Amino acid sequence: MPYIRTIATLLLAALPVSAPAAATSEALWNAWPAARVYTGDPFALKNAGLRAELDALAVRHPGLFRVADEGVSCEGRPIPLLLVGDGPTTVLLWSQMHGDEPTATVALLDVLNYLGTTRETPGTKSLLSRLTLAVIPMLNPDGAERTRRTNAQGIDINRDAHRLQTPEGRFLKSVRDRLKPSVGYNLHNQGPNTLAGTTGPQAAIALLSVPFDEAFTENEGRRTTERLAVLVRDLLEPWAPGRVSRYDTEYTARAFGDSMTRWGTPTLLIESGGFAAAGPGEAAALVRLNFVALLGTLSALADGSLSKVDAAAYASIPLNVRDRLFDVLVRNALVIGGGGLPPYLADVGWNVPATRPGFTGPAVGRGRGGAVLDVGDLETFKGKTEIDATNRLLCVAPRGGADGWAKVLDGLKARGLATADGTLALGADALSREAKSWLEGAPALAPGYGGDFLLLAPAGDGRFRLERRLSVANP
Ligand SMILES: [Zn+2]
Repeated sequence: MPYIRTIATLLLAALPVSAPAAATSEALWNAWPAARVYTGDPFALKNAGLRAELDALAVRHPGLFRVADEGVSCEGRPIPLLLVGDGPTTVLLWSQMHGDEPTATVALLDVLNYLGTTRETPGTKSLLSRLTLAVIPMLNPDGAERTRRTNAQGIDINRDAHRLQTPEGRFLKSVRDRLKPSVGYNLHNQGPNTLAGTTGPQAAIALLSVPFDEAFTENEGRRTTERLAVLVRDLLEPWAPGRVSRYDTEYTARAFGDSMTRWGTPTLLIESGGFAAAGPGEAAALVRLNFVALLGTLSALADGSLSKVDAAAYASIPLNVRDRLFDVLVRNALVIGGGGLPPYLADVGWNVPATRPGFTGPAVGRGRGGAVLDVGDLETFKGKTEIDATNRLLCVAPRGGADGWAKVLDGLKARGLATADGTLALGADALSREAKSWLEGAPALAPGYGGDFLLLAPAGDGRFRLERRLSVANP
């Protein structure tokens, strides 16, 4: 037996580092459902709800963490700083400095619960004896309350590392100066419509070994965060294959991650993206990936195995590719845009409006959706929902919704241009001339169009019949 064990040990030692990562990853992935704390929509978790969850965790796991300090937001909301463990290496994790980026906040609750539940196991015992985790689950509670990026002053806290005009930014800086953490985790959400590489799938998680200068100079600290990024990619590969990307950015001196790294706390940026393939479980899938990434990398920091990860592999993580993924992409349609022009072959892409609990601001930015973003050759783009409209007409719909269409159809029937069953007895060119009046003076199809479309399928003899209605603004 000892002989066999020796062989097994040798074999294990010879395996690449990803083998233990895989074992850790699977164990963590499987542990998450039981560790899960908050099951609601992450965007609905506000400061009061977060503090209630922390109170409940403190009762469930007495002594697991202590509230070492509380910052105060512009509007007087407390910003708890939790300390977990008593090891010599301090790791600072802060989440939701952008109020509308809550995924990792929810994951941190699960991480705490997991550490509490497993605190007597050798792995967690060792982790908590080697690391001190300093956790700020929600740095921007005022922004979270409004589901918006900035704080109550309207300032992006992540651009306030120089001026320190925000109380939230000052708090974060004071924590960094006091604790001098060896490593930082800066936890965000990015636009969900980002690809992992030009031909890759939607990016679920984007990572950045945050630079401390314009040249992205490498030092031991940057190599540490590169290793962390590579390890996150390896940990998540089984659950989100190809869906981990590298965040695209330049050095931003006034940003906190960059400043933390410059101040001596090399920082890993983790951005939760999107996971449309997970369907209605998208938000939970992203929380689960965060859970695996955080605990897996913290374990590797604690037991020293991180040093065996190949930092150079960081360059092999595919870069974020933005604005190549639509919520809806209609391909190969013969388009009737409402301008009376002859129909033309085009793809049409748009994003649906995001609904987020507590969001009170104006709908701004590409990501908010509700309007056509692009018309034309979108062959190299992708859609979360793709509709193949080959041989079909994609036609702007009359104003007034389904009633508006019914009225138009009645008019066409009265003129002998549609049959009783709704088949249009006119060809595409004639239909385009008809459709010119349907928008009642509103602009024809172009980026910005927010009306409905009719998808018309061939009904024989060059005729068409309504197959389905597609709404851009009210899906
Ligand atoms: Zn952010």
